[in-house]
Amino acid sequence: MIHAPERPLRLRINEIFHSLQGEADAVGFPTVFVRLTGCPLRCGYCDTEYAFHAGDWRDLDAILRDVQAYGTRHVCVTGGEPLAQPNCLHLLTRLCDAGLAVSLETSGAMDIRDVDARVSRVVDVKTPGSNEAARNRVENFQFLTPHDQLKFVICSREDYDWSKAYIHAQALSGRCQVLFSPSYTQLPPRDLAEWILADRLPVRFQLQLHKVLWGDVPGR
Ligand code: SF4
Repeated sequence: MIHAPERPLRLRINEIFHSLQGEADAVGFPTVFVRLTGCPLRCGYCDTEYAFHAGDWRDLDAILRDVQAYGTRHVCVTGGEPLAQPNCLHLLTRLCDAGLAVSLETSGAMDIRDVDARVSRVVDVKTPGSNEAARNRVENFQFLTPHDQLKFVICSREDYDWSKAYIHAQALSGRCQVLFSPSYTQLPPRDLAEWILADRLPVRFQLQLHKVLWGDVPGR
């Protein structure tokens, strides 16, 4: 009996590009970004709406070839919401197997437990200012390790106070690094920096380095 050949695994890709990592623990490293198409959320401050629908279907082999052609050690799989495409899990493992330092940016609304343990997971906690706080998947927190990061994008003083209380209520300190980032168009970065210092809050302040360097443009 002749078996039909297995169909190659595919993902819908919005863009693959080379830039400096602008956020989280690998900030500043030259990095290849693989942006997957689609997201089930609609955050008010979203800066990648162009990735909601546009993209081409690509085999994992072709994606891997494109990534490796840049000759860069760091790769970040992002979106949209990359985990909304189940084959993303296979891509992450293939990238790790290729010896790359792999990070994943995810909304916090999807199950992270099956992500390859070698991947550094950057998991959003959606604040009320995003309009998507109801999507936070608290079951994810038990799977976080010191290798991962939680990211709060803070839109206002109300968001900051909510985030402080949330960290306490969910006992998030000590699980992994906690990042606080000001919403690019909504909160002056200095305000957030002053609040963190005044409260002696054990979180890591971050600015989106790529926007400081190039502004809010796609492909950076
Ligand atoms: S989860 Fe990310 S990609 Fe999706 S709407 Fe929110 S900010 Fe945009």
